[in-house]
Amino acid sequence: MLHQAIHIQALQDMLGSAERCLVASHVNPDGDAVGASLAWRSYLRAAYPALEVRVAFPNRLPEFLRWIEGAEQALVYADSKEAVESYIKICDLVFCLDLNAIDRLEALGEALADRSIPRVLIDHHLKPAEEFDLVFSDASMSSTSELVYRIALALGGKSLLTKGAAEALYVGLMTDTGSFSFNVNTPETFRMAADLMELGVDKDEVASKIYDSYSEKRMRLLGHCLLNKMRALPKHKAAYISLSRKELDDFGFQPGDTEGFVNMPLSIKKVTLSALFTESQDKTHIRVSLRSKGKDISVNEMARKHFKGGGHFNASGGKYFGSLEDCEAYFENILKTEF
Ligand code: 5GP
Ligand code: MN
Repeated sequence: MLHQAIHIQALQDMLGSAERCLVASHVNPDGDAVGASLAWRSYLRAAYPALEVRVAFPNRLPEFLRWIEGAEQALVYADSKEAVESYIKICDLVFCLDLNAIDRLEALGEALADRSIPRVLIDHHLKPAEEFDLVFSDASMSSTSELVYRIALALGGKSLLTKGAAEALYVGLMTDTGSFSFNVNTPETFRMAADLMELGVDKDEVASKIYDSYSEKRMRLLGHCLLNKMRALPKHKAAYISLSRKELDDFGFQPGDTEGFVNMPLSIKKVTLSALFTESQDKTHIRVSLRSKGKDISVNEMARKHFKGGGHFNASGGKYFGSLEDCEAYFENILKTEF
């Protein structure tokens, strides 16, 4: 655990002298990125009333996360560059959540690079980059939301967490653990869930808002993927799905619609490695999502080595620069040569 007393003291010192801070999280924000960032904002506002706190994401939140307290006030760099850039000019502390390198902020990271504002990392991915001034990085944590919760407790205690913040943390915890089916490494994670319930979280309501809010088109896209697009490679205990921009457009793709698709092939008993390839909106690259089952295949290594990405041992992502067909061939070749 890296969040020892000395780190907490350093964080307290930074917060004590800051006037305006920015909380930033990764591109294509997921439940943990949004939950952790909005909960951290809520906590900071309660604990440091004089501190101005703004949250920014590189691009838009998926619809199913927009109900979380504070989501409406969050800035989206792709939509309001000027507002974000003028805030960056006056802010004096930056928190980077749920990412291990600034390049996960994409264009927002470039906007931040223009100024040398102290950066604090709060994250649970493997191998954090050496570009932060204070680092809370713990890959044993279920989620960044759990790490935010532990830091908030160490700083000031539970009483400063509102029901809205507890809901945000619960979203991060639930989504990053597949509803408590993986990444739960200690009983403390369940104790955190219990604490959040005590703070007022209605877990059935939160689960329903996240998982029962898809469009009909998204369900049909999933059906199309499983029926027509999933390619099984039994020799390599692998399967993958690839989706062109046209297919995504035909099914009225909205951000977040493919969330969870990459996990589906892992439900097949003999499949231990799964991939999802989706053509980016501007067709400049292929987004790559990788998942594995068990302790033998590190998709983090695969993402780092072959797809300029990273993440966790069993869940990682990256990019491929080329056509969808070339990406498929490239992936199959990795399987042939390395598995
Ligand atoms: P997903 O496949 O759900 O997009 O991402 C799975 C995990 O890999 C997440 O923890 C995410 O932060 C990480 N990840 C996804 N894409 C990238 C990428 O391009 N670079 C890096 N470093 N990590 C990624
Ligand atoms: Mn996460």
